[in-house]
Amino acid sequence: MKRKPKIAFFSLTSCEGCQFVLIDLGEKFFNLLKKVKLIDFSLIEEIPFPKGKVKIDVSFVEGLPIKKEEVRLLKKIRKESKILVAIGNCAALGGIPEMKNYQGKERTIRYIYKRLDGILNPEIKEIDNFVKVDFVISGCPINGEEFLKFAKDLIKGKIPKISQKPICSECPHQGKKTCFLKKREPCLGPITLRGCGAVCPKNSQLCYGCRGILKGINPKGFLETLKKFKKPEEIEDNLEIFGIKDNIEKLKAL
Ligand code: SF4
Ligand code: SF4
Ligand code: SF4
Repeated sequence: MKRKPKIAFFSLTSCEGCQFVLIDLGEKFFNLLKKVKLIDFSLIEEIPFPKGKVKIDVSFVEGLPIKKEEVRLLKKIRKESKILVAIGNCAALGGIPEMKNYQGKERTIRYIYKRLDGILNPEIKEIDNFVKVDFVISGCPINGEEFLKFAKDLIKGKIPKISQKPICSECPHQGKKTCFLKKREPCLGPITLRGCGAVCPKNSQLCYGCRGILKGINPKGFLETLKKFKKPEEIEDNLEIFGIKDNIEKLKAL
């Protein structure tokens, strides 16, 4: 009998919303599980890391490591996995927790906690600062249908190809008067990877770039245009929401 691929879902510090998306897929997700051997799914049950020679075919990691134990777990996951996939904006880009870095981590923690005894306050870092990541499934949260599409290839040992197209290409406002940019509102759709169905602009919200910026572009010119509409600090605040500001700074685009 053909060996079923072993897969596991691990959750580091996060809201676990990306794992909920999988549960929300209902039967479709359980059909996928029939084709694999599930080693761990931390939302359902946290089991101790399997002992011995496990070799997981695909590990999906949600969230990011805050505690030393989480860093150790992440490194162990990497060692035991053929393919390691970052799922969601926190794991891939630092996400909402990374706002703490931008706002000053000391200032932020004192705002939240009056007494700091025993409270860890590390710099927030996405998981590729600790281990090699083979593939990223973007979003906050991830898109369930997109997960299923990528998972099909991943469990066969293939790394899916992602076409680098922007949110605008799936947005009903593209080229219309209703586009936020036409209204001088700083929508990040033109520099953000598509795949969520432009859910925010469709629902009258700006895109804040939770799926990350397109590979191979330099958004400097686009951001300069946005700064004509809004103060630079406001644009930077928008880039901080989903942790993309540091990635943009690395491109020297701010
Ligand atoms: S990416 Fe969003 S939904 Fe997923 S774990 Fe992080 S905060 Fe939660
Ligand atoms: S994603 Fe934003 S900028 Fe792009 S077409 Fe839609 S509203 Fe306009
Ligand atoms: S529209 Fe932008 S912010 Fe909204 S889910 Fe898609 S990528 Fe994320």
